[in-house]
Formats: sequence, C-alpha cells, structure tokens
Amino acid sequence: MKIAVLPGDGIGPEIIAQAVKVMKALSSDGLKFEMEEAAIGGAGYDTAGDPLPEATMKLATDSDAVLLGAVGGWQYDTLPRPMRPEQGLLRIRKGLNAFANLRPALLYPELANASTLKPEVVAGLDIMIIRELTGDIYFGQPRGISTLPSGEREGINTMRYSESEIRRIAKVACEIAMKRNKKLCSVDKANVLETTDLWRQVVIEVAKDYPQVELSHQYVDNAAMQLVRNPKQFDVIVTGNIFGDILSDEASMLTGSIGMLPSASLDANNKGLYEPSHGSAPDIAGQDIANPLATILSVAMMMRYTFNDETTAQRIEGAVKKVLASGLRTGDIFEPGTQKIACSAMGDAVVAAL
Ligand code: NAD
Repeated sequence: MKIAVLPGDGIGPEIIAQAVKVMKALSSDGLKFEMEEAAIGGAGYDTAGDPLPEATMKLATDSDAVLLGAVGGWQYDTLPRPMRPEQGLLRIRKGLNAFANLRPALLYPELANASTLKPEVVAGLDIMIIRELTGDIYFGQPRGISTLPSGEREGINTMRYSESEIRRIAKVACEIAMKRNKKLCSVDKANVLETTDLWRQVVIEVAKDYPQVELSHQYVDNAAMQLVRNPKQFDVIVTGNIFGDILSDEASMLTGSIGMLPSASLDANNKGLYEPSHGSAPDIAGQDIANPLATILSVAMMMRYTFNDETTAQRIEGAVKKVLASGLRTGDIFEPGTQKIACSAMGDAVVAAL
C-alpha cells in the first residue's frame, strides 16, 4: 500500500504524525505501508513556490492513496489567490478526479454531551453523507460578474450536471449503502431545478441495479430540516456539490466535535484522498493539543474504501472507541470527569489500544 503523506500546515504535521504512528503499528502486525511525505498548501508555497508542487502531485498520482493533514495559515492570506494554500487542496482533488466525497457524521456515545441537540435526538447517530465534489454550480460555465447594457452589474453561476456525472456518484452511493444499512436518501430540488430533476431520474435508474437498497428522495430544504428534527432517520445521503457542502457541515455539527470527523474523496477506482474534516487550526498549532482522532479515523476510512480491508478499518475505529471509553480526551472534547491529554499522547493511546 503506497501512501502519499501530505502534512500541510498548522496542526497538520502534528495530527499526521499520530496517524503515521498508527500505520507503523499496523505495519509491525504485518500490513505493508510504503509512506512518502511531500509538501502541500502553505508548506508547498514555502518550499517550492506553489501550494501544489509538481513533485507532490506526481507522488499523489503514483500512490494508491493520499493522507492529508490540513492547509492554511494567516501568513498566506494576503498572497495572490492562485498561490494560497486552499488552491493546493482544490487542485489535488480535481487532479485526482476525486468526485465522491464521503463524510460520516457519527456520534460516539461517550461524546453525547458535545452535541447542541438533545441526547435522545442524536444518541446512536451514524450517517454517511456522500457529496459530489467536482461538478455542479461550483464548476459550471458560464460564470462571472458582468455589466448589463443598463450599467447594472449581474452575477452568474450555472448549475449543471451531465448524466454520467450523476450516474457515477449514484453508483458509489448505492455501493456504500450496500455496505451499511441499505437505506439511501437522495437529496435534490427537483420541484424547481431541472438539473436536479435529471439528478433524480438518473439516481432512480442506477438504483434499479441495487434492488436491496431502499431509495428515498427529499428536497434539500426538507432534508436540512429533517437533519436537525430527526437525524436518525438517515443512513446514507447522496447529493450534489452545493447541497452536499451545506448539509455535510450541518450534519457534522450534530456530533458537536469537529476534531472527530474524518473524510474521504474517491475517484472511480476507489483511489482516495483522506483528510480530517477540520482545517489547520492555526490558533492551536505547535502546542501539541490538537485532536488527532479525525486523522486517525481517516486512516480507517482508507483501509475500508481504498484497500477494502474492513477488518483493519474496524480495528482502528475500535481502538479509538476504547480510548474514548477509558476517559482520555484532548482539550476540544474534554469535560469534567475525563482526563485531558496531549495530541501525541492521544496517538500513543490509540496505538496501545490497537
Ligand atoms: P479550523 O477547522 O481550522 O478551526 C476551527 C476551530 O476548531 C478552531 O478553534 C480550531 O482550534 C478548532 N479545531 C479544528 N481542528 C481541531 C482539532 N483537530 N483539534 C482541536 N481543535 C480543532 O477552521 P478555520 O479556523 O475556519 O480555518 C483555519 C485555516 O484552515 C484557514 O486557513 C482555512 O482556510 C483552513 N481550512 C483548511 C481546510 C482543509 O485543509 N481541509 C478546511 C477548512 C479550513
């Protein structure tokens, strides 16, 4: 298993170091990881003058999977836009054709108090949101701001999806639903937007090949409401880029703890870019206090989705659960009665629990 390891900026190097510890521990148990590091984001700009240096993109392309920390930092905020760290992230996702973004929202029973919703609404929550990542209104042409003959300015973005783009994400969603509770909810706005009317038609066609999957549909406004009203009705949600952007952030907050949430972005062959859902947290960088669990759980997703190794995925997730059950917490998830530990100590604890 050849893994490109891209620590990035801020807390990136600290949290990636813990994930690397976990992979090394698994290696000593017989799994073979070949890991190579490269710079991305601000680190890429500092070392090679580019947030996605050519050598980094080549390493990512030549690897089976990419593990990324996070990018961004205040010192880069005044650079011209193409040189900013976030551009490195957008380019690597596009360059790898990582069109399927998987973001689980899972509430660990030990962290039930972290949610702003009532415990009975979120207890046992386990949702997978699948967001199409390389199409939709974020990429559609024409776009821009122009001046009308009247002298008034007009902003234009174009929502568009081709049948093949919808088909491939619908297929990923059905496959993932098959590995879970076989319940899939497709979210659209088919009552108003033709693009998403086509979305619904194609999802229905694709789902015919998965008769065991119970397919339902919700309009995005209703889905946003249902996510806070009764989130446990969902198992897998599939939706387009813009709706998924919003709904996945909403769903992540049901769990209350950004430091716990991994993500995967997959191409058509399940090659993936794995990263925590949070950013580079410059406010706490370099202090060894960040929560590395989202990054460690991203390794579990890598084992599940790219390497098809459910046993190892569950082993990592089981180790994280064990550590939480033992009362160890980083600062972001600390509450009275638990024990606060450092980022590196959390990595050690997961390795011990493995
Ligand atoms: P952020 O996610 O970095 O931080 C938000 C808050 O959550 C901060 O208070 C931070 O300390 C805390 N936090 C985040 N991750 C944590 C962890 N693992 N453990 C403990 N606390 C954690 O979001 P932001 O502050 O809006 O952005 C900071 C930088 O990160 C910006 O430059 C932004 O562009 C970038 N960013 C990068 C990504 C990415 O790399 N995927 C995503 C979002 C933001």
